[in-house]
Order: sequence, then C-alpha cells, then structure tokens
Amino acid sequence: METTRTIADVRRVIGTPRAAGRSVGFVPTMGALHAGHAALIDRARAETGCVVVSIFVNPTQFGPGEDYDSYPRCEREDLAVCEAHGADVVFAPSVEEMYPRRSLTTVHVDRLSETLCGADRPGHFDGVCTVVAKLLNIVAPDRAYFGAKDYQQATILRRMVSDLNVPVELVVCPTVREPDGLAVSSRNRYLSAEQRRQAPALHAALQQAAAMIRRDAPPAETVIEAVRAALADGAPDGTIDYVRVVDPETLEDVQRTDRPVVIALAVRLGSARLIDNLRVDPPAGAS
Ligand code: AMP
Repeated sequence: METTRTIADVRRVIGTPRAAGRSVGFVPTMGALHAGHAALIDRARAETGCVVVSIFVNPTQFGPGEDYDSYPRCEREDLAVCEAHGADVVFAPSVEEMYPRRSLTTVHVDRLSETLCGADRPGHFDGVCTVVAKLLNIVAPDRAYFGAKDYQQATILRRMVSDLNVPVELVVCPTVREPDGLAVSSRNRYLSAEQRRQAPALHAALQQAAAMIRRDAPPAETVIEAVRAALADGAPDGTIDYVRVVDPETLEDVQRTDRPVVIALAVRLGSARLIDNLRVDPPAGAS
C-alpha cells in the first residue's frame, strides 16, 4: 500500500495499475475509519483491481460552529485499517494541497441540497459536491463507493455525476450498524454513556415506522408522528432536527406511503448530530 500526499503523486501511482488495465475503485472518506468505511473498502476490493482511499477532513463542508477543529483525526490507525482491508493507495492530502488558493468555483446541486440536512447545514452539500468533484477529477476512478447512511449525500452526488457527465459509476453500499442497530459513525464517539444507550432509538423508530408502512401504508403524517413519539420515548435527551418521509429520488416530502419512500431523520444527542434513514418499499402487489 502506498500513501500519497500530493495530487501529482497519487495520479502517478494510480497510473501504473491503470496502464496495466486494472479498474480503479475509489472510497472517499474523512478518516476516523470504522466498520462502515471498511465495508466500502471491502466492496471496492471485491469489484475493482486498484483500490484508492482518500482521507481528507474537508473544511468547506463544515459550517461555522460545527466540529471541523474537533473532528477526530487518527491517521496512523486509519492507514492500518486501509492496509488490513486491502487498499492499494491512500491519498491523504493537506488542506493547502487541495485548496492552494481561494476557490472561485463551487459545485451546487440545486433543490436536493436545500432540504433535509441541507436546511440545517447551509452550504454543507456545496462543500461536499465540490470536494468530491475535485477528488473524482484527481483519482479518475471507474467506480466510487458511498454509504447509504448518508442517503441525501449519495442522492446529490448521483445527480451531480449525471448532470456533469462525470465518467464514474457510483456504488451506494448498505449502512453498517452496531449490533443494537445504531448506524456506525465517526461522530458516535462524541456520545456519553447515557446518550449511547439512547442512540439505538433512532434505528428502532425507523424500523417501527417501516413495519407500519408495510402493514397498512398510513399517510406520511401518521408515520412521522409515530417516529417522533418513539424518539421522545427512546431518546428523551435528543432534540429532533427533522423527521421526514420523502421520495427516494427527489427527496421531496410525500403524503402517501404506498410507494417507495425514504424515512430520514436527524437528532442531536449532546454534541453529536446523528442521522439515519430507511428506504421502505411497499410489499409486492400493494398499490
Ligand atoms: P465520512 O468519512 O463520514 O465522510 O464517510 C465516508 C463514506 O463512508 C461516506 O460515503 C459515508 O456514507 C460512508 N459511511 C459512513 N458511515 C457508514 C456506515 N455506517 N455504513 C456505511 N457507510 C458509511
């Protein structure tokens, strides 16, 4: 495994396997690697001939007062995870390497970026799209791997890649969870023991809602009320940012749940802002 720090270097290192006809799989991350990231690396390893992982805490996707400064940085452990899961190349650039001067260019995906987490974190997805566009141009992978845990992010990036004709196939991988259902996240380490005890309520509420939808497809409003009640009960220390039932592609609120929907939520527990989502498809034969 080779660790690279500069754009010129990562391009040079990837050039050799590419010239030998190996496909390139790319896993962009902000480091503090966990089982969710490892699953993306494993999938890339299984599907492509050269696996590239980037580790870059991107300042432009953090808003004022967010956790950019305190975001966990543990490169030595991260490199060990990459190595153990068979990555060929790690790209871990400095902020100066990625942003040598103030960028005058921003990639903005309209509509999809303003809703859900975008409403609570203005500019966040512009930062994500711009850095992912840069990384895709630097690495030029055949496939890039993202987690369904960040459903909105994956949806926005899919649209960006389609709108801009970026020659890459996006692969969205299932959310990896702790045994009690909590979605694995770098930010889970911000939770106190009591908050950690309450955190699985997010997934439990989503599952309960999914069961309701599969049983009798009630109006979205009823589902949202049930999720809010389950969260109030299971995570009483949490503050709900949003609970929404949305169309899987447009991310617009829906009223009916007798067609595919995504239930998405964000809850603040102490200093952690936890997000989770579940896609629910109506049982075959339902109309
Ligand atoms: P991050 O380092 O948080 O920017 O995440 C890097 C990638 O890992 C993103 O595509 C995330 O969606 C994905 N990811 C984060 N947590 C999980 C998880 N629990 N399961 C699957 N993928 C995840």
